[in-house]
Amino acid sequence: MVCLLLLGPPGAGKGTQGQLVASRLSIPPISTGDTFRAHVAAGTPLGLSARGYLEAGDLVPDAVTCAMLSERLTEPDTAAGFLLDGFPRTTAQAEALQGILAERGHELTRVIELQVGAAELVERLSARRVVIDGQSLQRSDDTPDTIRHRLEVYQRETVPLSDWYGSLGLLSRVDASGDVDEVTARILDSFSRNGAGVD
Ligand code: AMP
Repeated sequence: MVCLLLLGPPGAGKGTQGQLVASRLSIPPISTGDTFRAHVAAGTPLGLSARGYLEAGDLVPDAVTCAMLSERLTEPDTAAGFLLDGFPRTTAQAEALQGILAERGHELTRVIELQVGAAELVERLSARRVVIDGQSLQRSDDTPDTIRHRLEVYQRETVPLSDWYGSLGLLSRVDASGDVDEVTARILDSFSRNGAGVD
């Protein structure tokens, strides 16, 4: 059972690296951001209530986010493990995750924090394009003001988690600047160096 968590600011490459690392480990990548965007696009009740938060770059309330994640972790594809991208983002979410895992007799294998300098983050987010309905578009929350706000929210709400996971001896910090494949190799390397075999 491999329970992996990717921490890092918006633009650090959690989505890209999450997919690559999860595929290498044959576990599903679970992105709360992608799940919210899918609900918004489909116009579900969850999407309607989450939409305003996403557009503003604010966090969706913990209760909504934790309920969604907890439900996702009951799906059979998570039986051998999973990689979380974008969850937890607050102390309350981290505590909820410990509870969800403990209930199932699991524990976190490793938390990987992707580190990228502030200037590179803003540059990456401003240049980022995503494919929506076959079209290459800018995410509605990748505008300069919203990017600034998301980085502030990250500093305030999520940065304390890295110290917390560090104090539990679970954290590996990885330099996430530069070439995508090199970053993937660094992540897999830090993961296997900490006794959680990759192969
Ligand atoms: P991301 O794709 O991870 O950058 O997430 C995009 C947006 O989805 C965030 O700015 C939040 O509005 C929402 N979101 C994603 N994950 C969470 C989370 N764990 N807690 C609260 N809101 C979240």
